[in-house]
Amino acid sequence: MDTDLARTWVQAIAAAVEKHKDHLTQLDSAIGDADHGVNMHRGFSAATTALADYEADTPGSVLAKTGNTLISSVGGASGPLYGGAFRAIGKALDTPTADTRQFAAALAAGLASVQKLGAAAPGDKTMIDAYAPALATFQQQADAGADFAAAALAAADAAEKGMRTTTPMQARKGRASYLGARSIGHQDPGATSTALIFRALAETVVAR
Ligand code: ADP
Ligand code: MG
Repeated sequence: MDTDLARTWVQAIAAAVEKHKDHLTQLDSAIGDADHGVNMHRGFSAATTALADYEADTPGSVLAKTGNTLISSVGGASGPLYGGAFRAIGKALDTPTADTRQFAAALAAGLASVQKLGAAAPGDKTMIDAYAPALATFQQQADAGADFAAAALAAADAAEKGMRTTTPMQARKGRASYLGARSIGHQDPGATSTALIFRALAETVVAR
């Protein structure tokens, strides 16, 4: 991971969010307030705009800028949660390049931020149910000596698998938890956007 790749990753997330905006909103209309697509689109559009004339010399500064922009531009729960995660990832990448192990540690800091702020655990039907398996997979790959692309691809697959496991879960955090058992049978919007974020990483790295 380097500064250019971080920029391209954020642009790829923005493109994926734009493409899947209506789907994210549909998912949020079933168990939330129908704004997740709008929130993500607003946040990542603002991030790409903010990065366009932002001079950065580390991937960390790109990702921290992204996090700050998400926090200041998104009103929903996902803004501070993703914003804090990108800030934490950025803070952990304060070097011109980061290898697979360093990036694994940064992703772990991002998840810790989400958990600190949102107090959700795996199984609560949130973005964590995609993020935690993606991180675990990325870490395993890094520990096994895999290259960045292989780790990112495996993590994207794990995020998508985790995303699908949210459907039968009953929500215990966020707006969906107000529905109680009626939240069962719907895929979580935030887990879905997390899967997009990891897929965008894999595609960005592979395309390079
Ligand atoms: P809001 O719920 O404020 O409308 P969004 O619709 O943008 O915000 O985001 C909803 C998503 O945020 C949920 O699908 C869930 O994945 C995630 N989320 C909500 N609360 C939490 C939490 N406490 N911890 C982790 N993720 C959460
Ligand atoms: Mg919502």
